[in-house]
Amino acid sequence: MKIDLSVLGRQFDLHKAEYEAAALRALNSGWYILGHEGENFETEFANYLGANFCVGVNSGLDALTLAVRALNIGSGDEVIVQANTYIASVLAITANQATPIFVEPDKFYNIDASKIEPAITSKTKAIMVVHLYGQASNMAEICKIAEKHNLPIIEDCAQSHGAKFQGKMTGTFGIGCFSFYPTKNLGAFGDGGAVVTADENFAKQIKMLRNYGSEVKYHNKVEGVNSRLDEVQAALLRVKLSHLDELNQERKNIAARYLTEITNAKIILPEIQTGAEHVYHQFVVRVQDREKFQFYLEQHEIKTIVHYPIPPHLAECYQRLAYKRGDFPLAEKFADEVVSLPMFNGMTKAEVDFVIEVLNNY
Ligand SMILES: *Cc1c(COP(=O)(O)O)cnc(C)c1O
Repeated sequence: MKIDLSVLGRQFDLHKAEYEAAALRALNSGWYILGHEGENFETEFANYLGANFCVGVNSGLDALTLAVRALNIGSGDEVIVQANTYIASVLAITANQATPIFVEPDKFYNIDASKIEPAITSKTKAIMVVHLYGQASNMAEICKIAEKHNLPIIEDCAQSHGAKFQGKMTGTFGIGCFSFYPTKNLGAFGDGGAVVTADENFAKQIKMLRNYGSEVKYHNKVEGVNSRLDEVQAALLRVKLSHLDELNQERKNIAARYLTEITNAKIILPEIQTGAEHVYHQFVVRVQDREKFQFYLEQHEIKTIVHYPIPPHLAECYQRLAYKRGDFPLAEKFADEVVSLPMFNGMTKAEVDFVIEVLNNY
């Protein structure tokens, strides 16, 4: 049995007629950028999250970059971020000429809340948390620290659509930045993203920035960018959003089987923090000899991928920051040991059975 990491056609097939109707509706409307589909999606997504405002943008990276920018964070400022994140979180900081201050992860692969305070300096302007792999970060602790130091929280929710901490949606504790890249839990059929906020003025800022820095056409208040969520993607996202809870439940069901049925001591399974919900954007395990492990799975035609093999502080593009191996040992250890198992909507019982069997025979 051949199992790919993510089979995107399957989630399309699950609600194919609805997607086709929505795409045609958007095409037939004769209006393709900043129209009713986008506005309706923004309202529906804000309602789903229990947030006040949602502003669609072109990608998750843009959501993060514009959020940092709308907070007036720039040269000479520092933003705290976990060391084991995807490069996009860090790019959003450095694109604004600010400096990322890395903090080690906890055993749930999220930022270690107990290590945030020692990283705060007089230059710190925000705390960025990444709900990595789909598990909500320890927002109770993080909100306490942010409040004490009067710092805004930027949440990278690119992997955590629908995940809650103590019953509250990720993306509503601070400024929520979402990606709708096709593989994400709430994935579009192209690029997309959104910024979610409780603050009307902040939402206005993002709206201005995404549209050339103008509120009124051709009256450009600030130097903005072109980063808009198009009408076809918004129409498709409205369909996907209406099924998000069931799609997340399907992922949770697969994860529940992995968690109980994978019984190989060589494979370290993910742990869930008390109070946190996990929507399993990725099901990430750890192994000692990852190359051997991946080769074994490859031989059984099970595709795996590593999220992520190089922590940002060691990325070639950040040589100027002058970090070296050993600076963030835990993030580096995770980068060396993590592997993501097949986890996607439309995965069959036989496929899950097969993955479990092959893993237990390793
Ligand atoms: C996917 C992702 C992003 C970037 O989203 P894009 O839409 O691809 O720009 C940012 N942060 C994390 C954690 C991601 O997984």
